[in-house]
Amino acid sequence: MSSNLALPKSCVYCGKTFIAKTTLTRYCCHSCNSRHYKLKARENKILSALVQNQQTVHSLQSLHSSQPHSLISKNYLCIKDAALLIGVSRWTINRMIKRGDLNIHKFGRKKIIKRSQIDKLFN
Ligand SMILES: [Zn+2]
Repeated sequence: MSSNLALPKSCVYCGKTFIAKTTLTRYCCHSCNSRHYKLKARENKILSALVQNQQTVHSLQSLHSSQPHSLISKNYLCIKDAALLIGVSRWTINRMIKRGDLNIHKFGRKKIIKRSQIDKLFN
């Protein structure tokens, strides 16, 4: 970098116009440089904290959507859904089907349970 340069520039931090000796100079003085650096570092810290927060919210949301809450509105459930909804294992559901406590409809290899069948269990 040539030191013969005299570029009028405005400081990135305080906005004061100054004469830069190199094209890379962005601050009028060293203290502006270090202050701006600290500010940036703090902003980055806040930003990364925010991003982390969003990720937490996001993972909570995806966890939520896999929870029984979204199954409540379903009228037809597969074994897995039904198990989740009642809070028992899939094997328990299968046992109930074998005992005849639950009527299912077969669609190919998939077993579908009507929601009303499950409601009946609790009557
Ligand atoms: Zn400055």
